[in-house]
Amino acid sequence: MAETLKPETVAAAHGVASDSAFGAVSPPLHLSTTFAFEGYEQARAYDYGRAGNPNRTMLAEALARLEGGAGAVITCSGMAAIDLLVSTVSPSGRIVAPHDCYGGTLRLLKARAAKAQIELAIVDLNNSDNLDVELQAGTELLLIETPSNPLMRIVDVAAVAQRAKAAGAKVAVDNTFLSPALQRPIALGADYVIHSTTKYLNGHSDVIGGALVTADAEDAASLGAWANVVGTTGSPFDAWLTLRGMRTLFARMERQQATAARVAQFLAEHDAVQRVHYPGLATHPGHAVAARQQSGFGAMLSFEFDGGTPIVKSFLEALQVFTLAESLGGVESLAAHPATMTHADMGADARRVAGIGDNLIRLSIGLEHADDLIDDLSRALGPVSEAAPLCRYEELARRENERRQDSRT
Ligand SMILES: *Cc1c(COP(=O)(O)O)cnc(C)c1O
Repeated sequence: MAETLKPETVAAAHGVASDSAFGAVSPPLHLSTTFAFEGYEQARAYDYGRAGNPNRTMLAEALARLEGGAGAVITCSGMAAIDLLVSTVSPSGRIVAPHDCYGGTLRLLKARAAKAQIELAIVDLNNSDNLDVELQAGTELLLIETPSNPLMRIVDVAAVAQRAKAAGAKVAVDNTFLSPALQRPIALGADYVIHSTTKYLNGHSDVIGGALVTADAEDAASLGAWANVVGTTGSPFDAWLTLRGMRTLFARMERQQATAARVAQFLAEHDAVQRVHYPGLATHPGHAVAARQQSGFGAMLSFEFDGGTPIVKSFLEALQVFTLAESLGGVESLAAHPATMTHADMGADARRVAGIGDNLIRLSIGLEHADDLIDDLSRALGPVSEAAPLCRYEELARRENERRQDSRT
């Protein structure tokens, strides 16, 4: 296909009707673990499934095109993609990571640092002085994650990447929260783009997968070879499902972020809500940078209650359209409580430093009708704002009991 095609077309059409055996329009799934040689010393394009598979190749090509990269390696999880990247630094090489990066990333980096396999510096990427000090100490790799989880903090990728490159570091951006539909880090100066394809790219909450997209073609080849050595390449079925999910990426993103904007506005105006973290709100500290470097504000947001744990608990248990679950980026809307779920491992002190309170709720907005999502939030929040401040919790608990009794009958 021509390289001038628009990304929506690439997502919908890459690999369509390319089957030479039967002309299948939807790309066939190749589960075979091994491929026949044409003859003595005559391997075909693929020989063994860990090393290469047509479904992984097709997904890698599509994703590399969408990200504007030279190639991509498809891995069995987002964490495997991050570890693949970590394997590129030299022994005891220095990695700089953001203090509010994905919990699993931090756990991996700390574990590798504890074994002296890497040297790790954790910084606030929005504090330029700290960042420059750490970069000057001889950094090989800088990780960026924007928007951050769960506070949706925005990092100016072009500005930070420029400083990192000037200091001789490679730059990787975890683009999981936006997908290439809304942000293309390579165009902003990144050398690598990391994805947990588990989230928006697959989009249907039925695959754990990852990808590492590279700006440089040789990087893609050597990283792909290493993924085969360590055996972290993804399964063919997962690649097939992920590409199938990506067909609708742009349409999903467009609708999900439009709904997220409505939900954010609703929450911002609600009495029981103290603060809303959504880059699309003009009051968000990263709004201007997000408006410049993203082509949309995404479908993730978080908010803080005016109140403590009992209210949070009752609210979460009162939700009926939102599901209380970890993960994000699927067609179904999810609510999560970072302090007891996604960020529980961090410990209370680290959460306090990162600004993740016990009254913070994270929402992943799916494809349900905006009215139903807002009604659900409104109902779960409603008693909180209607009741007198001192008896909010009791009132909420009473209504929740009534609801449960109703649903039993
Ligand atoms: C989920 C996630 C990961 C890890 O991906 P898995 O597919 O769960 O291994 C990494 N980074 C971000 C931002 C994520 O949301």
